[in-house]
Amino acid sequence: MSYLRFDVLGEAFKKHPLEVKLPGVRPDEYFGKYVFNKEKMFKYLPSDVYAKMVDVMENGAVMDRALADKVAEGMKKWAMDMGATHYTHWFHPLTDTTAEKHDAFIEHNGKGGVLEEFEGKLLAQQEPDASSFPSGGIRATFEARGYSAWDPTSPAFVMDDTLCIPTIFISYTGEALDYKAPLLKALHAVDKAAVDVCHYFDPAVKKVFSYLGWEQEYFLVDEGLYAARPDLLMSGRTLMGHNSAKNQQLDDHYFGAIPERVQAFMKELEIEAMKLGIPTKTRHNEVAPNQYELAPIFEETNLSCDHNMLVMTLMRKIARKHGFRCLLHEKPFEGVNGSGKHNNWSLGTDNGHRLMSPGKTPTDNLMFVTFVVNTLTAVYRHNALLKASIMSATNAHRLGANEAPPAIISSFLGKQLSGLLDSLEKSSSDELFKIAGKTGKKMLDMPQIPELLIDNTDRNRTSPFAFTGNRFEFRAVGSEANCASAMIALNTAVAEQLVDFKAAVDKLVAGGMDTKEAIIKELQKLIKYSKPVRFDGNGYSDEWKEEAARRGLDCETCPPEIFKHYTCNDSVKLFESTGVMNKAELAARTEIKWEIYTKKIQIEARIFGDMAINHIIPVATSYQSNLIDNVYKMKGILGDEADELASTNIELIKKIAKHVKAIEEGVNQLVEARKVANVLEDEYEKAMAYYKTVVPKMEEIRYDIDKLEEVVDDNLWPLPKYRELLFVC
Ligand code: ADP
Ligand code: MG
Repeated sequence: MSYLRFDVLGEAFKKHPLEVKLPGVRPDEYFGKYVFNKEKMFKYLPSDVYAKMVDVMENGAVMDRALADKVAEGMKKWAMDMGATHYTHWFHPLTDTTAEKHDAFIEHNGKGGVLEEFEGKLLAQQEPDASSFPSGGIRATFEARGYSAWDPTSPAFVMDDTLCIPTIFISYTGEALDYKAPLLKALHAVDKAAVDVCHYFDPAVKKVFSYLGWEQEYFLVDEGLYAARPDLLMSGRTLMGHNSAKNQQLDDHYFGAIPERVQAFMKELEIEAMKLGIPTKTRHNEVAPNQYELAPIFEETNLSCDHNMLVMTLMRKIARKHGFRCLLHEKPFEGVNGSGKHNNWSLGTDNGHRLMSPGKTPTDNLMFVTFVVNTLTAVYRHNALLKASIMSATNAHRLGANEAPPAIISSFLGKQLSGLLDSLEKSSSDELFKIAGKTGKKMLDMPQIPELLIDNTDRNRTSPFAFTGNRFEFRAVGSEANCASAMIALNTAVAEQLVDFKAAVDKLVAGGMDTKEAIIKELQKLIKYSKPVRFDGNGYSDEWKEEAARRGLDCETCPPEIFKHYTCNDSVKLFESTGVMNKAELAARTEIKWEIYTKKIQIEARIFGDMAINHIIPVATSYQSNLIDNVYKMKGILGDEADELASTNIELIKKIAKHVKAIEEGVNQLVEARKVANVLEDEYEKAMAYYKTVVPKMEEIRYDIDKLEEVVDDNLWPLPKYRELLFVC
């Protein structure tokens, strides 16, 4: 009999190094150490090249080949001074991970030796073999070429011995095969549309930035325990496991004292993140046992998305140094909270207007209300698409479950802002515009607005898209996801809405209306129109589901159905009119979503079957044999008396037999269901078959397995239990 579980438990309590050495006295001494930022550029590039590069980064100037060559030279010199021997294009394929292929900085020198080489063309563009990345049919396998092209707006960095160059990844024919290419287009679209609208208020605005501050939730599990759980190892979540007696019911983990070993991990993680220029700021315990959160200070959305991908990489890597595994899956454990990634989002101008923050003057506040109302309208118009942008096989466990935002996108504004919009909607323009005495100038007079202080403690944890004082917080994003998916959908939707808003206002102005009056008139229309998306109540309640359906919000919960919203007419119009993605790219993305959904469930179902047959049943029957042996022996010495005295064990023998039979039959049906699904050609049909037949079957069998865990001898149970996974740290 194997006592693996107890071996690994013993290992889990081994001492881990708790000392983490600080690389400098103050964070500013090591912040950005591994980043080719402006400071390094200034040092390593000739001054004219530096000036041009800054123009490219900050004003979107064109990068030509000659410039790329010179930048490459300086970048290589810096990277080699940092100890780098290799370089890679670092990109975000549609897999929720990053991709890299390292090449050494060497070429033949023609004399039998090598020389260090890194030209501008290698910096600007490469042709990785793209055939093994998901493409949704855009790139047939015989045309394996894809291009990765430098994104100079996100700085290069050194990781270990490799210079990493952030790039977009597109097909031979120019379609996006990644997240970054459409994200950059979405950010451009929202910049342009928002600048146009800003000009109503301040003609000096030149650029509007989209900002993102993410909060990353994760679990830490002891590495030994993790290794003894094939389901965690292969799928990132526990597919079986009985609830532990204590979990989060005492609310004693959230914001609790951070365990020493975890603290050491966090400290090292923060130091390494800082060296990569990631401004990590907040760390705390989350709601579930062994669950934690990290949040940096917000940054421009493109950089912030890159930084989130980097942090996830660092988390996985550094956790292992401390004897942990980092679980980024949205729902590693049933019965306790899952993990999300709140995306705090706002817009701001180059000259200091924070467009989601109320200001001091009536004009500032009208600007604020304009952007808030247009954002709400965009979220209302595309609520189904926004949901599609965050839905996945893994996030599906979280959305709609009783802990996370429901699978309905609505927005919480808080009493003050809600009240303000309501009164704005109802006011007549006479009330809003009073003739200011002597000057005779029309002035906006909304008593609530001039000194607006939005109370950001007014929180609603159940809302998937909440206004929190100076930003919106998109909370439905999955912990493992690339933030870019949500950010593409949101920024594009807001861009489209701002374009439509401007067209409507301009039309009124062309008809002779005063601009401010036209803006208010249009806002009143939008406040009325977008009302169904506003919801300040309890998003977990069943009444809300009914109410949301009545309001016409998308209430679909089936992931393969939800993915279809990428290709509905409204979405195609949205992405094409803003130039972010075309119909073929959207169709490809949807195909990939179905494909990945299917594969994730398929992998789970395979491991699940293996574990049921190879781990659970042998242990259950072996314990059952012990019991049978015991009953026989009791009969041998006690005779008929044993019938009464051994009756509990006899019941237990029957109980085990019943569960074992159910598991065996269930696994056979599970295998059958997979076979039927696997032969379906159409990706949507296949994903639907997995959703309808494989997912529920696993849940059914899990019930019997978890029941066995309750009765089988603890000494024999092969898998680390929930109480061990969740409380050993
Ligand atoms: P919580 O929501 O738990 O109170 P914090 O207040 O720590 O979290 O903020 C969460 C994230 O929101 C941080 O990354 C923070 O930098 C970011 N954030 C704050 N203000 C803005 C803003 N105006 N735009 C975008 N992100 C913001
Ligand atoms: Mg938050």
